[in-house]
This record gives sequence, C-alpha cells and structure tokens, in this order.
Amino acid sequence: MTTAVVVGSGPNGLAAAVTLAKAGVQVTVLEAAPRIGGGTRSSELTLPGLVHDECSGFHPLSFDTAFSRLAGLEQHGLEWAWPEVQYSHPIGGEAGGAAVRSVDETAEGLIGDERSWRAVFAPLVPRFADIADDFLGPVVRVPQHPIKLGRFGLRAALPAGLLAKRFSTDEGRALFAGVAAHAFWPFHSVLSSAIGTALGTAAHAYGWPVAVGGSAAITNAMAEVLVAHGGVIETDHRVASVRDLGSPDLVMLDLAPRAAVELMGDEMPVRVRRALGKYRHGPAAFKVDFAVEGGVPWSHEPSRRSGTVHVSGNYAETAAAEAMVHHGQMPERPFVLVGQQYLADPSRSNGNVHPLYAYAHVPSGFAGDATAAIEAQIERFAPGFRDRIVARHVQTTTDLSQRNANIVAGDILTGANSPRQLVFRPRIGLDPYSLGTPGHFLCSAATPPGAGAHGMCGYSAAMSALRCLGRTPALP
Ligand SMILES: Cc1cc2nc3c(=O)[nH]c(=O)nc-3n(C[C@H](O)[C@H](O)[C@H](O)COP(=O)(O)OP(=O)(O)OC[C@H]3O[C@@H](n4cnc5c(N)ncnc54)[C@H](O)[C@@H]3O)c2cc1C
Repeated sequence: MTTAVVVGSGPNGLAAAVTLAKAGVQVTVLEAAPRIGGGTRSSELTLPGLVHDECSGFHPLSFDTAFSRLAGLEQHGLEWAWPEVQYSHPIGGEAGGAAVRSVDETAEGLIGDERSWRAVFAPLVPRFADIADDFLGPVVRVPQHPIKLGRFGLRAALPAGLLAKRFSTDEGRALFAGVAAHAFWPFHSVLSSAIGTALGTAAHAYGWPVAVGGSAAITNAMAEVLVAHGGVIETDHRVASVRDLGSPDLVMLDLAPRAAVELMGDEMPVRVRRALGKYRHGPAAFKVDFAVEGGVPWSHEPSRRSGTVHVSGNYAETAAAEAMVHHGQMPERPFVLVGQQYLADPSRSNGNVHPLYAYAHVPSGFAGDATAAIEAQIERFAPGFRDRIVARHVQTTTDLSQRNANIVAGDILTGANSPRQLVFRPRIGLDPYSLGTPGHFLCSAATPPGAGAHGMCGYSAAMSALRCLGRTPALP
C-alpha cells in the first residue's frame, strides 16, 4: 500500500491528507502543537463560554471548491452560518458602505456609486463558481474557463488604487479599499486588486460565512474524514528532519518554504533550496480578542449587523496605512479588521457578552504593542466601545509565530502577495508543489492559491503527488 506522511495539520495539511486517503493512500499526519488545525483553531481565549477564532474567521473561498466537493465536510459536522451584512466599512459618523449578498442591494446603498458597484461585480457574480475553480488552482496550468477568468483578470490585474477610481463616493471607495486591504499589499502595485476582487465577488456569490462553533469545526471535520479513511493523526510531534520520517512513498510538508528547506536539508536539490530561499514574507498581524458586553456600538448602523467590519477610515487613510506597514513603519491609525462572528453564530456568546475578533496590519516582526491603536480605531467609529470591554486577549506578532511556525514574523498569509508571488509561488516552476526530490511536496499556503482555510493548496499538492505516482485520480 502507498504510504504518506503529512507534516502539519493546518487546513492544507489535512486537505492533502484527506485527498490522498480518499485515493487509497495510508496517511499519517504529524502535528507539532497539542491540537490540530493550525490557523483554524478556536478556543475560549477571554472568558469561559466565549468561543474565539484564534486565526481564520470568515470563509468565502472555502465554501464551494473542488476540495469541499471531494471531502463532503458538511456530512462530518461542519455547518456554515452567514451574517446579514457580509462586510462593512464605517467612514465617520453614521456614514459608511456595506456589502450584502445582493449586488443590487449593495449598489443601492452606495448612493452615487450604484452603477460603478454593479459594473465591477455584477458581471462576475454569476460566473464566480467557474472563475473560482481556476483562481483557486495553480496559475501556471491551462484555465478551464479562460473567457470567464479573463473577465476576472481584467479587474484583478489592476492596481487597487486604479480600480478604486471607478467609485466616486467616499463610501464606495472605502468599501472597496477595505476588501482590497486583505492582500496586505500597497494599492499602487499591479495585481493588488486580485484578492479584493475575488473576496468582493465571493461576498455576493457565496457570502462570507463562519463555521458554527468556531473555525476549528473545519479541520475537525477534515480529521474525521481522514480517520474514517484509515488515516492517523499524532499531535505534540514536531518534525525536525524528513530523515526521521522513515521511508514513506510521499512526504507532504504543510510548512513555510524556509522550514521545508531546513527539514529536507541535503535531500533538497540546491536549485530548489536557492529558489525557496528567495521566498518573501509580507507584513504582519497583531491580534486582540475582546469580550464585549452588548456588542460594539457602531455609529454606522449596518456595521452592527456585519460579520466583518473594516476599520481604517476613508480610502486615502486605508491606502496610506497599508503603504506604511509595507515599508516597515507602524501607522498611528492602522487598518483593523474586526470580526463579529457571533452575529452569524450566537452559540459563541455567553448571554449578552460577545467574543470580538480584531487584528491590525502591522510591519513584519513588529515588536511593539498595537492594543491601544486597535482600541482607538474601533472607539473612533463606535464611541463607548472601550466601556463595554470585559476582557481582552492579546497576541503579538511573536506570540502568533511561537504558536505556529508557519506564521513567520507575524505574516498570517504564509508569504507576501507581491505580483511575482501571486503568480509564481513558492518559486517559478511547472509544478509549484514539487520540492525537487521524488515523493516530496510542499502543501502549505505558500503554494497556489495562497492563504485561506480552503484547503485548496493541500488538495492540489496531493493531486500533483498522485500524478507523480502515475495515478490519475478519479476525483471531482
Ligand atoms: C489572525 C489570522 C486571521 C486569519 N483570517 C483568515 C480568514 O478570516 N479566512 C481565511 O480563510 N484565512 C484566514 N487566515 C489564514 C489561514 O488561517 C491560513 O491561510 C491557513 O491556516 C493556512 O493553512 P496551512 O495548512 O497552510 O497552514 P497552518 O494553518 O499555518 O498550519 C500549519 C501547521 O503545521 C504545524 N507545524 C509547523 N511546523 C511543524 C513541524 N516542524 N512539525 C510538525 N508540525 C508543524 C503548525 O503547528 C500548524 O498546525 C488567517 C490567519 C491568521 C493567523
């Protein structure tokens, strides 16, 4: 029987494991931490009864993918829930923008930008399932839907600053800036619209759902599928070298590229080692989870109903903050992403005390404390917020990296979204998953399609591994 060892049990490690196990491979997963799940763990970080997502909170690109269709996680306890408003962006007083599932309703809320919002998103939404199938695969393969992907590419290729010019109101421009900021990349750069266009379209096509009970439900369901197919998971097992893994047919590394280089040592060809040594990490996150009595008193009413609130002021302020962190400077008013998962999933709250998720974009390896800056940004758009804080839990960039070695210097995306790495990650080559040694593959978010708890990196790496074994997998 073909055997595989997967190092790391993040969503990509487990997706690789599930994909291989479903193809009949005997899989063992080794995880350094005491709990599985990597960037999908959730726990009671502040007070008993309050469930916080430690990392990933919203999953627009996990909902309908080749992997989700293969794994059938909904049959293993995964349940999605949607907030009424998918994301919003207050800009001062009662003003702001809000994106709901309907493109028309969103557009109508952006008085003065109705036509522009429709023009950017309406043509993509009905085609998004096909676009996402291509977008969520390796960029270097032949697309299955080239015309639809091309239509998406016309927008995605633009600098976010240029695409934002299609909107004439402060509300429209800020709403787009907030979603574009998910790329952690300056708005003047080519391709900096790609992530914002994909997430913005996904908000209308699929919504931005949360996993009921916490994001850990995603990887718990993957683990259940794996075990049902004979897979084995060992936690508290940090792997220092691939030499310690025996001689499985396949080794799948759910790791950042430099960690893969270290684990493989001389077993990795020099040219691959050099290429992976050039891989770049991006800016970092500084995370604070709050227990908040009565929720956040946003002045912008739709933000009180929104799963995600982008807190960074208007377009110019957002663009400036993102440019600063890119250049290693900490802005006084950083971009803050606030997650109100409990609105979609009330089971995470304890009575009237709710878990609030917030992280600021900060420079790579930022050594300071961004707690006050995060609270000040929220207070600015929700006066009275500070008085409602009952407890807080802080994770600095160092804390995040210590809890998960894949979060290098606080980079929550496992690699910078530079134009080069958006197209060729982790290195230029025909098979981005191959580590250059037969049977060895990288399957983390450093590979296409990049960050997110969608498992598509792991799925595509496993498909590549199966092809190398001479098997053409009969999978969806
Ligand atoms: C604060 C934050 C917010 C985020 N928000 C979102 C969001 O809203 N939506 C979304 O889709 N994504 C989000 N993400 C990103 C998402 O969590 C990651 O892209 C995703 O978890 C990457 O999955 P992965 O399997 O590649 O790696 P990881 O999830 O990082 O898992 C890697 C695993 O490998 C283990 N490991 C590392 N080294 C070793 C070793 N030597 N031996 C054994 N095990 C090892 C680690 O302990 C870890 O469990 C967020 C991330 C963070 C940190």
